[in-house]
Amino acid sequence: MRCPFCGHIDTQVKDSRPAEEHVSIRRRRFCPACGGRFTTYERVQLRDLVVIKSNGRREDFDRTKMERSIRIALQKRPIEPERIEQMISGIVRRLESLGDTDIPSKQIGEIVMETLARIDTVAYVRFASVYKNFQAAGDFDKFVSELRPVSPIDK
Ligand SMILES: [Zn+2]
Repeated sequence: MRCPFCGHIDTQVKDSRPAEEHVSIRRRRFCPACGGRFTTYERVQLRDLVVIKSNGRREDFDRTKMERSIRIALQKRPIEPERIEQMISGIVRRLESLGDTDIPSKQIGEIVMETLARIDTVAYVRFASVYKNFQAAGDFDKFVSELRPVSPIDK
């Protein structure tokens, strides 16, 4: 595995252990060239997924990319790292079991939002505001007001 810091190819595995309740193997790696340390995860990949972007372009599903956007939404939220890993694996498993390997990016966004909504409202709002790309402040206010439970008077 190539070192992400200096590009050296021959990095060493210092430690391997099961993670995410034995769904993956976490490896701590060390680069002898620059001294850099990084972590890799080994996981079962049931199917190769393809994302259909809104402009019609296709690209390979990138778990890391999705994970990054989820982690940004969850920044400084009181959620255990293990829980986040489980959540991401759960989303990927859901995507893999959709029945079609070509998945519209919109559908992935919806699944991520649905999952975040169950875990953390703040993260959900953050993710949704980026994902839905609110044009005007009013759109955002409307979205947030819809999150509040409807009182009987409003009905
Ligand atoms: Zn290196």
